Amino acid sequence: MAHQWRGVIREYAERLPVTEATKVITLGEGGTPLVHAQQLSALTGSDVYLKVEGMNPTGSFKDRGMTMAMTAAVAAGAKAVVCASTGNTSASAAAYATAAGLKCVVLVPEGKISMGKLSQAIAHGATLLQVNGNFDDCLDIARKLGESYPVFLVNSVNPARIEGQKTGAFEVVDWLGDAPDFHVLPVGNAGNITAYWKGYKEYCAPFESATAGTLPAVSTRTPVMWGFQAAGAAPFVAGHPITEPDTIATAIRIGNPASWDTAIAARDESGGVIEAVTDEEILSAHRWLSAREGVFVEPGSAAGVAGLIKKHAAGEVPAGKTIVITVTGHGLKDPQWALRTEDGSEVQPVKVSNDVVTVAMALGLEEK
Ligand SMILES: *Cc1c(COP(=O)(O)O)cnc(C)c1O
Repeated sequence: MAHQWRGVIREYAERLPVTEATKVITLGEGGTPLVHAQQLSALTGSDVYLKVEGMNPTGSFKDRGMTMAMTAAVAAGAKAVVCASTGNTSASAAAYATAAGLKCVVLVPEGKISMGKLSQAIAHGATLLQVNGNFDDCLDIARKLGESYPVFLVNSVNPARIEGQKTGAFEVVDWLGDAPDFHVLPVGNAGNITAYWKGYKEYCAPFESATAGTLPAVSTRTPVMWGFQAAGAAPFVAGHPITEPDTIATAIRIGNPASWDTAIAARDESGGVIEAVTDEEILSAHRWLSAREGVFVEPGSAAGVAGLIKKHAAGEVPAGKTIVITVTGHGLKDPQWALRTEDGSEVQPVKVSNDVVTVAMALGLEEK
């Protein structure tokens, strides 16, 4: 019988802080496709793969961490969870809190959150508060609420989130047979680059499992990590927090990343970089993915692809390598970007009358 994917906790239980007795909160996250990107491979002469995280239950990689965080919340006897969010964390927290039977409070920055994500949090019954501030302000409040009130914090400053998200690296290695040469991804609050690096390192050495003894190494190497920030929200490039982060890529519109030190460690230990791409480069990569690869992502998710294209143009992408890019969230989260042309005008469908000859004419199949 075919193996049915059971969610990241059950699939990777022996590498996660859970036991047989743990009550697992899952919506079947993970097991996302690793798609061979034909046009990016042709461009670079390397084998480029897309880890399509929009295929998770709520449409972003946040679900990998949320299954762990919500499982930990239930184990701790929590009745309510809280998170700050640029959108996807709130969508994920709201869905997993519903599955766990917990109350969910989400703090989002005013104005800068997509309709798709907002509607998810509301559909799943979260208490949603729009804070008159940016994401960093929201996270500050969420942390303080978690410290002083009976609410459980499910942002990626919670180590359970990182534990869940490291399974993305496991899946890449399990699929390819070894780690890629390069792993490329967008960087916002920097939880994901932290988590992937942790996962790759753990898979490349014997692992002391809490439940299954010493597990042998799965991969022979770790990848070089390339992270990309939006130019208007690039604290790692600046070397210090940014007070007024600004980019159309709302998922990575973060000026003061919580996982600062671990992101720097991932960059430096792997011999990698964290660089910036402009909003124009992000939108152009967004278009590349949908129009040439058949993969629809939200703008922030395209930052890694934008980075690869930019480094290729600078002659910095070697040929003959294996490159994996995490595309972090689904295009339907923030669909309005697809409806604009490169010059910024709205795309309007061509109107035709209800008649096959007129339609054939409009298609150039029939002389006018
Ligand atoms: C959260 C998020 C990011 C940024 O991930 P970090 O772990 O905060 O660096 C990128 N893209 C999408 C779609 C996200 O939801």
